[in-house]
Amino acid sequence: MNAQSVERHEVVVIGAGQAGLAAGYHLARRGIEFAILEASAHVGDVWRDRYDSLLLYSPARYDALPKHPIPLGRNVFPTGAQMGDYLEAYVAHHRLPVQTGIRVNSLRAASDLGDGYLITAGPRTYGANQVIVATGAFQRPHVPEFAAQLDPQIRQLHSADYRNPGQLAHGPVLVVGVSHSGADLAYEVAAAGHPTMLSGKDHGQLPFSVDSRRGMLAWPIMRFVAWNLLTLSTPIGRKMAPLVRKGGGPLLRIRRGDLERAGVERFEARTSGVSDGRPMLADGLVLDVANVIWCTGFRPDYGWIELPVIGEDGWPIEYRGVVDLSPGLYFLGIPFLYSFTSMLVIGAARRGLRRRAGRAALSVGPLIATDPAQRAARLADLQRARGRFRPTSVRRRRRARIRPGRGLPAAVRAEGLGARLRRNDRGNRHGQRPTAVHQQPGRLRGHHAIVTIDIDRTSSRNCTA
Ligand SMILES: Cc1cc2nc3c(=O)[nH]c(=O)nc-3n(C[C@H](O)[C@H](O)[C@H](O)COP(=O)(O)OP(=O)(O)OC[C@H]3O[C@@H](n4cnc5c(N)ncnc54)[C@H](O)[C@@H]3O)c2cc1C
Repeated sequence: MNAQSVERHEVVVIGAGQAGLAAGYHLARRGIEFAILEASAHVGDVWRDRYDSLLLYSPARYDALPKHPIPLGRNVFPTGAQMGDYLEAYVAHHRLPVQTGIRVNSLRAASDLGDGYLITAGPRTYGANQVIVATGAFQRPHVPEFAAQLDPQIRQLHSADYRNPGQLAHGPVLVVGVSHSGADLAYEVAAAGHPTMLSGKDHGQLPFSVDSRRGMLAWPIMRFVAWNLLTLSTPIGRKMAPLVRKGGGPLLRIRRGDLERAGVERFEARTSGVSDGRPMLADGLVLDVANVIWCTGFRPDYGWIELPVIGEDGWPIEYRGVVDLSPGLYFLGIPFLYSFTSMLVIGAARRGLRRRAGRAALSVGPLIATDPAQRAARLADLQRARGRFRPTSVRRRRRARIRPGRGLPAAVRAEGLGARLRRNDRGNRHGQRPTAVHQQPGRLRGHHAIVTIDIDRTSSRNCTA
């Protein structure tokens, strides 16, 4: 590769959605040179291309990125188009260096150019010492394979392609999947006069609609909970994280009562196959419909990243966005990067990578330093601050209490610590079991000593005993 044909930057941010732009703001503030590469022709198109009736679930007062309010009333819920326009105005306001119409199709280590990364986008090549991937959580629309066997007369759409009821054929509609878009679209097509069926189990609902009066009053509390309690630092957050990554969430605006009032026929059974070209539910019921709208979610799509950093679940192997396996690579905006809000507009406004990462959400800024030594020191700080659990990483570290008593794993017994691991410390979910325990000299926490437990020699945990 001719190094001169490469456009070089200190940092390249891939994706100019809310996450990429918030990262850009923090980089600019710190005087770090960078470029943002965006696939769409205009910043904000990702929002403009969503269904016409989309209203954000959070009011404008919570939807702004750092240092530029949304020019709408505090309690107004922006439309998708308004959000798109806001993001475009944000770029102009902060003069962020966004290059549009640049779809990155590979990211790899720049071994032939020294350190850093090589990014290709069609005929263009970029080099960067550090890369932030902010390509969004909603990447590849997912449709079950059996959809291909449906009668070609039935009009099929994924929610990503649905804009308005005008796209539908005359006649009944089956909406598959009962999360936000499923509920919104079923309600809309029923209101437009289509006999509408909605299949699948919902994931619960808020006790009130987000835009009701009670919802408005509850917003500060909901935001507090989503920011501070539903995080990887709390048991409830850790329990929730894999579920949120799989997709689905409680009904926020259109709830069960609204669907019933709109005349939507509910089927709890999943749509699980095809009979005579028609959709069939798991309980064997076959539905005669003219349209199917698949509100069956999205899957991550990082196939273009030619680095060993993507886990078996399809999500990056990272901790709060930092990829240990590939220094200088970061991810933003993915579900439960740290908290429930990580993939949401509310989360993008959160102050980025603070030094004390134990408390903060991912905040890329301070970590991305141009000086490698400074960067290494900051990464070490971050690693020290980690106290808890990593959902998708091979290496795990957590602080846990080893209680004196029964059922001691062999490795712990062999060390003669006279303690036992808590039930969930006896082995991780891959069946790996502790193989060695080392007491860390001089490290005490209250009356507990801190020990490190190796798990199958691939990882270690800090525990107290
Ligand atoms: C229907 C729907 C409704 C939603 N409603 C809300 C809501 O009300 N409130 C809320 O907080 N969240 C909502 N979300 C979730 C989330 O906030 C949005 O999806 C948001 O757009 C995510 O922001 P992001 O910056 O992480 O990713 P995106 O907004 O998806 O931005 C990623 C950007 O990266 C670009 N890109 C992707 N691949 C490449 C590539 N290879 N090269 C270059 N550029 C690339 C894309 O064009 C895009 O501009 C909704 C999601 C959906 C699907």
